[in-house]
Amino acid sequence: MTEKIQSVKGMHDILNDTSTNWQTLETTIQNVLSRYGYEEIRTPLVEKTELFERSIGETTDIVSKEMYTFTDRGGERLTLRPEGTAACVRSLIQHGLYQNNALRLWYCGPMFRRERPQKGRTRQFHQIGAEVFGLQGPDIDAELIVMCARFWRELGLPGLELQINTLGTAKAREHYRQILIEYFSDHETELDDDSRVRLRKNPLRILDSKHPQMQSLISNAPGMADHMDEESIEHFDGLKQLLDTAEVSYSVNPRLVRGLDYYGKTVFEWVSDQLGAQATVCAGGRYDGMTEHFGGKPVPGIGFAMGLERLVELLAEQGQGGTRPQPHVYLIIAGEPALTRGFRLAEQLRDALPDLRLLMHCGGGSFKSQFKKADRSGADIALILGEDELEKQCVGLKHLRREAGQVEINWDRLAATLRTALGL
Ligand code: ATP
Ligand code: MG
Repeated sequence: MTEKIQSVKGMHDILNDTSTNWQTLETTIQNVLSRYGYEEIRTPLVEKTELFERSIGETTDIVSKEMYTFTDRGGERLTLRPEGTAACVRSLIQHGLYQNNALRLWYCGPMFRRERPQKGRTRQFHQIGAEVFGLQGPDIDAELIVMCARFWRELGLPGLELQINTLGTAKAREHYRQILIEYFSDHETELDDDSRVRLRKNPLRILDSKHPQMQSLISNAPGMADHMDEESIEHFDGLKQLLDTAEVSYSVNPRLVRGLDYYGKTVFEWVSDQLGAQATVCAGGRYDGMTEHFGGKPVPGIGFAMGLERLVELLAEQGQGGTRPQPHVYLIIAGEPALTRGFRLAEQLRDALPDLRLLMHCGGGSFKSQFKKADRSGADIALILGEDELEKQCVGLKHLRREAGQVEINWDRLAATLRTALGL
């Protein structure tokens, strides 16, 4: 026997029995985004490899070991996108989208990283993200965070903790960088391999290391907060004040650094207490230097991305997953002559009742077998159209979920009867 083909390791189907949970999640979040004035942007799944190397940074886990990179038939180096910010920035510059007016964007779709698959970590995963361009004050940082708090409220997700930190201005970061280099150089023998590479290139990222061997060294490292300049502190205080005003609680986590190289000032994460090791459901931060780095004019930027797999799991644990919609009506068509009329009747009902979920029996078969399928479909009502009914210009109507005899309803009264019976 030939071997069955399986999906790629770490890449999963979202099956029809759970896709409604995803739809609920996506529509709830997209609805909030649009109420805050955010507009959707759709960028390609594949970009030039260089885009990610230059924006995310060569020393990050993503670029150094997780990207799906290949050479296409024309010899170009391409990569399946591992995240959404780089493409937004590319698109902004390419199309001159920023014209001195703030731009609020969101995206939704699959991302690809070749990580070790485990609970809450897959190789194809999905994100909804938002990016704002052209605003540099802490007010927009606060708006993004407060909007996240609304996502969780409207989804019915309690228990998400907000952690914030500041990475400071480029100047403050440069100063802190030197202090970190001194500190970690003094402990160079205790560093793991990754951290040793990062020591000269990007010592801040050592703080992001998940390596167990590194944890005590990291927690004893000089804190960022003690080496901030006035501008950084003012921005961070502004953010905290606005969060207080909005009654969104947070804790300041001085070890919070984001994976990408171009983050500065505000960074934040939303962390769940229910997901085990992979607990961050949403992460974001400010990246004011990125557009310039790509050869565009300087435009401040800030954004976040949330992992939909982890949110779907949280929703399911809360019993908020939503239910699969059952059909209201199953139309049984008994006998060849009824087929044409039944087909038309189904379309007429769909015209008259836009919210009606009607399943028309296809594929023929005996009345008895069709009736069984009607029952199994979960429909409330079976409509029966056979030769008798055809002659009398009516259908038989039978409630499937409660005791009641079958009644005859004329075609011209059928839509009205269903509207009342189903509360449509
Ligand atoms: P982590 O620390 O979990 O690896 P990250 O810092 O690499 O996260 P980001 O690049 O900030 O993640 O992506 C934002 C969010 O996307 C994460 O908080 C998480 O919810 C989700 N995410 C990231 N990588 C994966 C993955 N491999 N599988 C599922 N979700 C993911
Ligand atoms: Mg990661």
